Amino acid sequence: MNITIDAENKLNDRGFSTSKIIQFTYDSDECCPLCKKYGEAEHLYAMLYTYKYNDVCVIINRCRVCNQIYINTYDAQYVSSNRYKNYRLISSEPKKNENIDFEKVITDLSPDFVEIYNQSHTAEEMKLNHIAGMGYRKAVEFLVKDFAISEKPEDSDKIKAMLLSNCINNYVDDARIKNLALKSAWIGNDESHYTKKHSDRDITDLKNFIQAMVYFIGMYFIEKDAETISPA
Ligand SMILES: [Zn+2]
Repeated sequence: MNITIDAENKLNDRGFSTSKIIQFTYDSDECCPLCKKYGEAEHLYAMLYTYKYNDVCVIINRCRVCNQIYINTYDAQYVSSNRYKNYRLISSEPKKNENIDFEKVITDLSPDFVEIYNQSHTAEEMKLNHIAGMGYRKAVEFLVKDFAISEKPEDSDKIKAMLLSNCINNYVDDARIKNLALKSAWIGNDESHYTKKHSDRDITDLKNFIQAMVYFIGMYFIEKDAETISPA
């Protein structure tokens, strides 16, 4: 729904705009970035100013659902003297970081993997793709090594110190987990190194492989548990 509000005029250098208040028309049905509900914004304050040669309107809102405060920034387009309208929402802050939940078997096996994966996810949400890619690569290393250590705890120190590829080849027997771990490491290395060897693959493939690896590791432990049941 388009509404028109009063915005404080901070376009100081504009000869055509002398009023202290500018009318700003925009679509008020935007989503709250914190609770994700639509159309429940109560605008508290608005201001028009120039940022990097663009006119923008900043609106401070209160969400009627979660009762939290957030800030939307819009491109502002000149309509006529003392009137502007929006044509694009630039940002909605603060962003809420939502962690990915993993099954208990994975959080017990490798809490470091879960923490590193979620930090990488946060980096990706913030459009920090290079950092996210390296982070996912590190997460793979912790998941695979903690899995290997759980299989061969007596080799723990050796596993921690060895190259990831050697760890996969020597300590991961399950063919599906091995394949996914190896390919995740390859794609992950591409995210960490100067030159890329698999140019047709990217962070999305890496995340898909990690997701599948997490699934098969979970299944592996469930099957191991089932093996402990003896005939009655
Ligand atoms: Zn809300």
